[in-house]
Amino acid sequence: MHRLSAIEIRDLFCKGEVSAVQIAEHFLNRIEAHNEELGTFLSVLRPRVLRKAESLDKRRSRKEPVGKLAGVPIAIKDNMHIAHEITTCGSKFLSNYKAPFSATAVHLLEEADALILGKTNMDEFAMGSSNENSAYWKVQNPWNHKCVPGGSSGGSAAAVAARLSLIATGSDTGGSIRQPASFCGLVGYKPTYGRVSRFGLVAFASSLDQIGPMTTTVADAALAMEVMGQHCPRDATSLDLPPEAYPLSKELAAGTVIGIPWSFLENLTPEARKNFDAAVQVMRDLGAKIVDINLDLLKYSIATYYILATAEASTNLARFDGIRFGMRSKEAKTLEEIYELSRKEGFGCEVKRRIMLGTYVLSAGFQDAFYKKAQKVRTLILDAFESIFNHCDAVMTPVTTSGAFEHGAFQDPVQMYLQDIFTVPANLAGIPGISIPSGYDSRGMPLGVQILGPQMCDVALMQISYAYEQATKHARIPGDYE
Ligand code: GLN
Repeated sequence: MHRLSAIEIRDLFCKGEVSAVQIAEHFLNRIEAHNEELGTFLSVLRPRVLRKAESLDKRRSRKEPVGKLAGVPIAIKDNMHIAHEITTCGSKFLSNYKAPFSATAVHLLEEADALILGKTNMDEFAMGSSNENSAYWKVQNPWNHKCVPGGSSGGSAAAVAARLSLIATGSDTGGSIRQPASFCGLVGYKPTYGRVSRFGLVAFASSLDQIGPMTTTVADAALAMEVMGQHCPRDATSLDLPPEAYPLSKELAAGTVIGIPWSFLENLTPEARKNFDAAVQVMRDLGAKIVDINLDLLKYSIATYYILATAEASTNLARFDGIRFGMRSKEAKTLEEIYELSRKEGFGCEVKRRIMLGTYVLSAGFQDAFYKKAQKVRTLILDAFESIFNHCDAVMTPVTTSGAFEHGAFQDPVQMYLQDIFTVPANLAGIPGISIPSGYDSRGMPLGVQILGPQMCDVALMQISYAYEQATKHARIPGDYE
């Protein structure tokens, strides 16, 4: 069952060839066999998913209608609430925090009859690119345990890559869906900002955060988007648009123009460059017109992102005060100490660093020099994309400068931040982006190509991605998990 796509397993379930309980048991058994070595799940919701599976089987036997994701196993990143279950957000701070309601995205997946297996490991508060910032344990890349799975949605990526689940949700503030998907050989989709509700997602940087699916195929990502991409009155930034259907065709629409910011890609390693060149050639062979575009402005995107993201994080995380959510220091004797010691004990290093950075860039003396300037650069980046999308249907870049790096490779946080160069622009501009497997490096680690589209053009972007995927089919299951 784990070698199938989500759509295939749903179809088997609907035809009556396999029961939902059998599907749930199969994936729960795989989690039991592999979770300890991989570190992917923080919690497994065995009784809950078996209850859901039983009720789904009963409904099918009574010939009642079932949802679009009937019988599809799904893992949820642990920064999205599932009612009455723990949401840790990868942090010790929330180790005892029980969610009082479900995130809209989770609710929609459950309503579509998906089988929610558990919550996946992540960098604390989604801050990181390697999952090494999880307060719990590390996640190994199923392709090579020496390597990181990427981050911050590393648990989700490793879970799907090792086929402990067929779909996982991720959240992407600066690349946390696309980069781990690429490091683990998966499809990762970051929708247009506002397309998927953020209600029930623990906020990191609210103007950048977006939930999306991580899957083994583009068609599965499209299906998950049909379910999750709905207007939600509980999220003020949710797009007030009807849900979209995602028809897919192997052909690229006639006259598709794809822009490549060649001068921005100068620093790629020869191996990454060769892989990217091959991906561009595939697009050419599919009939796309390839044009050279200038996005040199994106060299400012890391600085812009790390000012805005930390600024927003510092205000969002102010709510974790030891009173309202999660843990409270047992040492504290005064109110002041509750604030101070709970944060000291509850937050990890990277989270503290970002709160300090964010507080600094928002402080009275520096607000104009950092925060306001970064906002202006963000507008310029948005404008640059807008003018490119006047004559291009999509922009293509690699997802990362190389395949997955080894655990411990980056000791200097700034060096780690610089790895996000190709993914953060999409968040700054609010545009949709996808990562799709594009081959393997000489170590056998997966590489990915990123395709970006204009705001609200999620369907068109998915279609271009599908044509590329069907022409290449690089996705595979890592040998040890077949
Ligand atoms: N790696 C980036 C960061 O650490 C992106 C994280 C994310 O998208 N959640 O901020």
